[in-house]
Amino acid sequence: CGRYEGNALVILGAGESGVGTAILGLKQGFDVFVSDKGAIKEKYKTVLNELQVDWEENQHSEERILKADVVMKSPGIPDTVAIVKKLEAKHIPVISEIEFAAVFTSAKIIGITGSNGKTTTTKFIYHILKHAGIKAGMAGNVGDSFAKMVAETAPDWFVLELSSFQLDGIRDFKPEIAVLTNITPDHLDRYEHKLENYIASKFRIAENQSAEDYFIYDFDDELIKSWLEDHPIKSEKMPFSLQQKMENGAYIENENIIVNIKNDQFNMPTSSLDLQGKHNTKNAMAAATVSKLLRIRKNTIRESMESFQGVEHRLENVLKINNVQYINDSKATNVNATFYALESMTTETVWIVGGTDKGNIYDDLLPLINEKVKAIICLGVDNEKLFRNFGNCVDTILETQSMREAVSMAYAIAEKGNSVLLSPACASFDLFENYEDRGRQFKEAVRNL
Ligand code: ADP
Repeated sequence: CGRYEGNALVILGAGESGVGTAILGLKQGFDVFVSDKGAIKEKYKTVLNELQVDWEENQHSEERILKADVVMKSPGIPDTVAIVKKLEAKHIPVISEIEFAAVFTSAKIIGITGSNGKTTTTKFIYHILKHAGIKAGMAGNVGDSFAKMVAETAPDWFVLELSSFQLDGIRDFKPEIAVLTNITPDHLDRYEHKLENYIASKFRIAENQSAEDYFIYDFDDELIKSWLEDHPIKSEKMPFSLQQKMENGAYIENENIIVNIKNDQFNMPTSSLDLQGKHNTKNAMAAATVSKLLRIRKNTIRESMESFQGVEHRLENVLKINNVQYINDSKATNVNATFYALESMTTETVWIVGGTDKGNIYDDLLPLINEKVKAIICLGVDNEKLFRNFGNCVDTILETQSMREAVSMAYAIAEKGNSVLLSPACASFDLFENYEDRGRQFKEAVRNL
């Protein structure tokens, strides 16, 4: 079936990827079995039952799983779990949903990966393609799974947000256009705490590319640059830089984004972007480069770049109250994302920070805090590390375990012309369900002021 020996498809994990793979697998004639070691969400059970697929939860029936011809492993499951080891020992292919689904579409692929900025850049590119009238689909970590989209739609281009876990399970998958937004240490627990393993995983996006394909990347990112020096890739490199002119790629000149591709030049002022912050200028440069490679008309690129308003929970302007701007950056779950949020602040800021710390090193933030932050509100179960790191930077540093209280503390401190920024630099699981829940609670508390 497809490129596999037989048609026995086992799916490990019944989340968005797993259920999407079940839908596509059935359509392609596989005999599908879904196995989840935990409890399956009701909504997914309903879909599996409607499909009349065999499934199990709270266990892995080894005998059946080890008879598979191919196994799709959901991104949340590490390679180290016993069942995966046993499959590997039997040389049964264990692949990701991206690898599985790509075989069954003739659409070309724009794949976006990186430590930060994936969702924003993916949505940015999709927005431009739609505006240009291109038949495009968006999938991956945003919205529906790629497999489900492949089963149900037939666009000319797919714009795919790819996590490193999705890339870990590829064999032949390749995007015609790859975008690597940046690399900062993240998820190292899944990579034996070795940065080089994590970098290698991100670079798998280019491993099957050929000379006709493109690789768009941040030229200012030292980790990417030095990796490329030691590990050449086959595709054509299209760097973008905030710092220097690029012969073949994108850069900034006189506050204009310039994209230079084989002597054809696109330009637009950065001031006409709706998105704030240097990081978003980088995301915009990546999106503009993709658009130029697709030969979209310059005016169409400009118009659609101007109208892209960003993504919820990413430096999202919520409300202005008494001339104080409230900004929701709940998706900033690591220090690097918060670095760019603070850097983009143009007014004195009351900063709400904290949550589940992932081994954060805060040194890079200190100059920005000294320059821009007037007060800090620590919002986490354990705020000791925040007090230790930032206690000397500001006169006012408070703590709470309630979003509502954090927002009213900020309201009491902020003066006309200031901003209140929620940019936690931490995961949300100590006090919230997830970052969306945290962001929504922030917005609700602000609206209730
Ligand atoms: P991802 O999908 O990679 O997690 P998002 O687009 O959801 O990325 O953004 C996550 C966080 O990172 C947000 O706080 C956002 O403001 C910030 N961010 C967005 N783009 C970049 C970038 N290019 N570099 C650093 N931080 C970024």
